[in-house]
Amino acid sequence: MAKTKQERYEQIKRFEDDLGQCMKCGFCTFWCPVYQEERIEPSVARGKNMMIRGLLAGELDYTREYAERLNDCTLCMACTVNCPAKANIPNVIVAARADAVKARGLKFPYNIVYRWLLPRRNLFGWVVRLASWFQGIFMPRTKGTIRHLSMFLSALGKGRNIPQIAPRFLRQMVPVVNVPPKGVKTKMRVGYFSGCMTDFVLPDLGKHIIDFLNRNGVEVIVPKEQGCCGAPVFLGAGDFDTGRVMADANVKAFEDVDYVISDCATCTSALKDYAKFLADTPQRKEAYQKFAEKVKDISQFLVDVLKLPSSAYKPAAKVRGKKVTWHDPCHLSRHLGITAQPRKIIKSIPGVEYVEMPNADRCCGMAGTFSVYYYELSKQIADKKVEAIKSTGADIVASSCPGCEIQLIDGVLRNKLPVKVMHIMELLK
Ligand code: SF4
Ligand code: SF4
Repeated sequence: MAKTKQERYEQIKRFEDDLGQCMKCGFCTFWCPVYQEERIEPSVARGKNMMIRGLLAGELDYTREYAERLNDCTLCMACTVNCPAKANIPNVIVAARADAVKARGLKFPYNIVYRWLLPRRNLFGWVVRLASWFQGIFMPRTKGTIRHLSMFLSALGKGRNIPQIAPRFLRQMVPVVNVPPKGVKTKMRVGYFSGCMTDFVLPDLGKHIIDFLNRNGVEVIVPKEQGCCGAPVFLGAGDFDTGRVMADANVKAFEDVDYVISDCATCTSALKDYAKFLADTPQRKEAYQKFAEKVKDISQFLVDVLKLPSSAYKPAAKVRGKKVTWHDPCHLSRHLGITAQPRKIIKSIPGVEYVEMPNADRCCGMAGTFSVYYYELSKQIADKKVEAIKSTGADIVASSCPGCEIQLIDGVLRNKLPVKVMHIMELLK
């Protein structure tokens, strides 16, 4: 039976107010990182808005070109925050991706990765590990700590320089319950959300964060049942049905804690977005909203909730005497409004010189699935970020999104810039 208009555009209709707010002034063209590279109207919020309106008016259909144009956006929200009408077109883009997936389905291999692997954290981890072993056997390693990831992910990453898969995953390194050491009073009990990157690629970072929290009187629970935040699935690919399965699992995994701490800006934002995009029943809406209130970015938690004194931020040995700059992940700065807390932490570290980067909140071009589909474009956006880093003369660029970190590592390596990319928590002892 043919779908009604309401069914065909079910998700877009939920965000019709955002769609209607655009007055076509074109101000977003100055801020959109994709438009700045491509210089074509369908790249920018105004053009995408017109395209989606055309779909609703029956002038366009769910063609391949339409789907590709929807993917051609980093969801950085630079258009929204600089829009005189505050039109939230990225909301509409995500909703339009969901309607397009309902109409067209997901292509191979993304259907396998999104529907079968990402919702199964253990299976996904072992597939990645297996692929990494095969790569070790069949492909030469590059020098140093950076080499191409497994062929499986390399195919998705189009040959980008990516840190290798860790020999042990975080979930194999830490118990479920991590208590403060003897002599340190427990002030609080939190859950730790370990995103896929921290679990599989940067487990030492996860372990370091748990130890840091323990030393500062926080008991840390790491539920084994937690999984991927779902960002690539529901925000990137528009697969809301699978996103709901993943959201339900994460909400349940953390139901017994008051706070859920995340070290990844994209994960933090995605966990908070469940209510906006995935709540299809009043029960889910209530559960997702409650969950969103518990989710905190690590720097926000340390500064605003735990209220650590400056003396708690001691330098890690490798950052003493170094010049550090900060890259604002879009999901932290524009999506969540967190910009002051990380800067406060870095500026509190004795022996570290902080230097502000020009356009520190400009998108690095990673944006998960976007950089998989459009690696060349993603590299062009990253090169502008690398120029900004270079202008600071910093030894270290810090951030708090493993996705941005991969992009920055790739950018500095390609541009032969002698700058180390670190997570903000790695700056601390
Ligand atoms: S999205 Fe905002 S800035 Fe862009 S054309 Fe519409 S009203 Fe203007
Ligand atoms: S979210 Fe970012 S990339 Fe997408 S249209 Fe807006 S400014 Fe451009």
